[in-house]
Amino acid sequence: MFDHLETGSDFVAEKTLRSSVSLSGVGLHTGAPVQITIHPAASGNGIMFRRQDLLSTDGAARQSAELSKVTISAHPKAVTRTALGTTLTNEYGVSVNTVEHLMAAFSGLGIDNALIEISGPELPIMDGSAEPFIAVLDEAGLRSLPARRLALRIKQRVAVKDGDHWIYITPNSDASDYACHMDVMVDFEDPAIGRQHAVFDLGAQHFRQTIAAARTFCNKSDVELMHERGLALGGSYDNAIVVDNGKVLNQGGLRFDGEFVLHKALDLIGDLYLLGRPIIGLVTAFKPGHELNNRLTKALLDSPESYELVEIPVTQSPAMRVEA
Ligand SMILES: [Zn+2]
Repeated sequence: MFDHLETGSDFVAEKTLRSSVSLSGVGLHTGAPVQITIHPAASGNGIMFRRQDLLSTDGAARQSAELSKVTISAHPKAVTRTALGTTLTNEYGVSVNTVEHLMAAFSGLGIDNALIEISGPELPIMDGSAEPFIAVLDEAGLRSLPARRLALRIKQRVAVKDGDHWIYITPNSDASDYACHMDVMVDFEDPAIGRQHAVFDLGAQHFRQTIAAARTFCNKSDVELMHERGLALGGSYDNAIVVDNGKVLNQGGLRFDGEFVLHKALDLIGDLYLLGRPIIGLVTAFKPGHELNNRLTKALLDSPESYELVEIPVTQSPAMRVEA
């Protein structure tokens, strides 16, 4: 509806932020304080991260060559590490860690272009969910850009598998169905998690209400092991659900039923959005993780016959549909 009013077009427009917003927290890996500022960006830029801490000069003296060395564009093929989160690295070897929750927030709200200035090597973990990112993006507000948004419509099945972990993506049976349907299942040994299943259509309203607040989680024994190895130093009960032999150790317990599977869905949504476009199709995932999520996006890009780029009629935009 708003696209129609703002652009006069019958097709959904690309979006960016209306103004810049900042937030700060600690990095999950380092435990060090980090600040990010998310700026609007023009159509064609996609999502870009910029490591401000690596800039040697300031203000007007900065050359564009120097800026490009510390700028990392979100893309499936920029993923260099998938342990404890998704890491992107540019051609100069400059990295940014743990991008998936912010990417999920961009996907959930339909933001196509943004520049994220960051004061260190990883995104702040915040509360372990995407909700704090949604809050600042809401504060900034969104605006339409003079370019039509393109979606990636699945034409042929693409599948990836690793032991009993798998994801596949298939076309919607109805050509007038522009939704991204998701079917995600997890199965953990710890009875506090067990087997959980979530089936939903990806849209801004559903993302906000059901997925954004789902926190990351881990086993108590894993935390101890990671700390011994100097990993996940920023991890705490404030930014992860910790389970131990059938019990949730956090005071206050879970935020809602299915928080575990919904967090895995959140990670999947964020990792898929490295494609830079919404997906039209059905994503079915059993025990997904960052590595497999990334393999799926690369498999998709490596088989151009499996998809086509299409404009999205305003009347078919997820924002227009009444979501359950
Ligand atoms: Zn996560």
